[in-house]
Amino acid sequence: MPELPEVETTRRGVDPHVVGRKIVALEVHEPRLRWRVADSLPSEVAGQRVRQTGRRAKYLLLELESGTLLLHLGMSGSLRVLPAETPRLTHDHFDLLLDSGVTLRFNDPRRFGSLHYTKENVSDHPLLRRLAPEPLSDAFNADYLWRITRKKKVAIKQLLMNSSLVVGVGNIYASEALFRARIKPKRAAKSLTRTEVGKLARAVKAVLAMAIKVGGTTLRDYVGADGNPGYFKQKLYVYERAGEPCRVCKTKIRQFTQGQRSTYFCPSCQK
Ligand SMILES: [Zn+2]
Repeated sequence: MPELPEVETTRRGVDPHVVGRKIVALEVHEPRLRWRVADSLPSEVAGQRVRQTGRRAKYLLLELESGTLLLHLGMSGSLRVLPAETPRLTHDHFDLLLDSGVTLRFNDPRRFGSLHYTKENVSDHPLLRRLAPEPLSDAFNADYLWRITRKKKVAIKQLLMNSSLVVGVGNIYASEALFRARIKPKRAAKSLTRTEVGKLARAVKAVLAMAIKVGGTTLRDYVGADGNPGYFKQKLYVYERAGEPCRVCKTKIRQFTQGQRSTYFCPSCQK
């Protein structure tokens, strides 16, 4: 599933191909995505120039002259920049045709992705307005993490993955950040000390920044990938390494299930 780093990588890959370009047409081949693509959407966006790209949580934003397109990749979605005449494949659900002769083509076998358009301030959109802080923004810091962990009995890993508290920290990144901060994933959130909270806030940012730098971990078919998608995997300390020796202390990495997700940790490095 595309996580925050993959969406940011996609944004960076798409950006040079779309900014300043005029939308010739939006061709929707299959409107039945997670939410039905509005019938009015093609006529609303045709003829508009793309001003800039953005991202909020896992939504990719294309800011146009009179509004903003919000695209979510869902569980299995990907975007490709292709010559407009490239034959379509199964699961290619829409084409955003640009005046440069290329198309931004959306493929999504499971159709959990979505496409919306708003003329209002995009941060007021129902899908975005209640989103928690971005982990890479200044709003997510030790003070914020301290505040949201107080009095919380929930395990720290589950708190990190709660998108109403912080957006975009998926399973891989939560496990890796906890390893880097040397904190056991099962610990009650409220048991973290001020020092640990500071370390964890920094670790979350570091792990996501590194994943973005190498182009994400999980998504293979995105545009503009200049890194090898497998590269970040070689840098993982604990994720999917159960039974293998810890890269720091050689103790075997352990795995257990937490909130229906696999959690990995080093019983010796993490306290
Ligand atoms: Zn270790």
